[in-house]
Amino acid sequence: MNACPPKRSEGWELDEFNLPWAGDNSINQRNSMITISTGGNLSHTHFHSPVINHYFCRNFYKNILNMRKKIAAGNWKMNLTLSEGKQLISDILNGLEADPPKQDANELLVIFGTPFITLKDAADQVDGNNQVLIAAQNCYSEESGAYTGETSVEMIKSTGATCVIIGHSERREYFKESYEMLAKKVDLTLKHSLTPIFCCGEKLEVREDGEHFNLIKEQIESSLFHLDAADFGKVIIAYEPVWAIGTGVTASPEQAQEMHKFIRKTIAAKYGKPVSGECSILYGGSVNAKTATELFDQNDVDGGLVGGASLKAGDFVSIINSF
Ligand code: PEP
Repeated sequence: MNACPPKRSEGWELDEFNLPWAGDNSINQRNSMITISTGGNLSHTHFHSPVINHYFCRNFYKNILNMRKKIAAGNWKMNLTLSEGKQLISDILNGLEADPPKQDANELLVIFGTPFITLKDAADQVDGNNQVLIAAQNCYSEESGAYTGETSVEMIKSTGATCVIIGHSERREYFKESYEMLAKKVDLTLKHSLTPIFCCGEKLEVREDGEHFNLIKEQIESSLFHLDAADFGKVIIAYEPVWAIGTGVTASPEQAQEMHKFIRKTIAAKYGKPVSGECSILYGGSVNAKTATELFDQNDVDGGLVGGASLKAGDFVSIINSF
């Protein structure tokens, strides 16, 4: 399995294959032949071409995001120049080599959410490493055209990034991104075979009014529930209470678990339990090396979207190794 990761430099394209992955996926590579058990309608497929193997491997790693995973995702926000960003990634990769995660890429993924200017170099740095993916922190809600200063999903994809953070509370608040706009961004991201990391979260006053469950339901319903089950299954959700972001006030493990369980129940009511059970739901809001273990231990918390602590190599490596 680990011999598998293809390199972009070897010429794969993300859209070449789109398999109807389903159920308990497993993949097995022997020599140049791949046997894929999808648990569904493509139970055994054999491919002999090493080139096709590469395509399949890449799509496998991309599509394994459809299954529930442990995920440590960093959101660098508007921090770090190109050279600083490259240095941070290389420090983190070195840190992981010295202190490897207990889980492999089947179970645990690491994502770097970098500024646009860093995406290409970051993607090159992790090319061939099946456990590490690159995310943009935003995209525009139109395909292309006269939108000066904006960045399209296709442009993001051309850098080698495979995920897009959508609906971060800072974008909702400072850039007035509406539910409708976020739905369009999600659609475009999926159309171009990238993975949306969809953020939701309530402000403190909403929680104090006891309206937090209603609001999170509304945010998810309004921007995601137009998707069919297959597309919804490709979305990662990040619950990020606004009062915890960048404040040093982490939600308690109980608060996080309570909301994540509610989110899973909300998804189950719309798409059924198999889909909700496979959805990766991350917690974000002042996660640090000390709080990560207890948060990630909660049944419905699959990992974290980490801001400040993802900018320090040692801290982020500790967070990755908290699973
Ligand atoms: C974030 O930016 O999504 C975030 C959770 O930030 P922090 O970890 O710094 O609170």
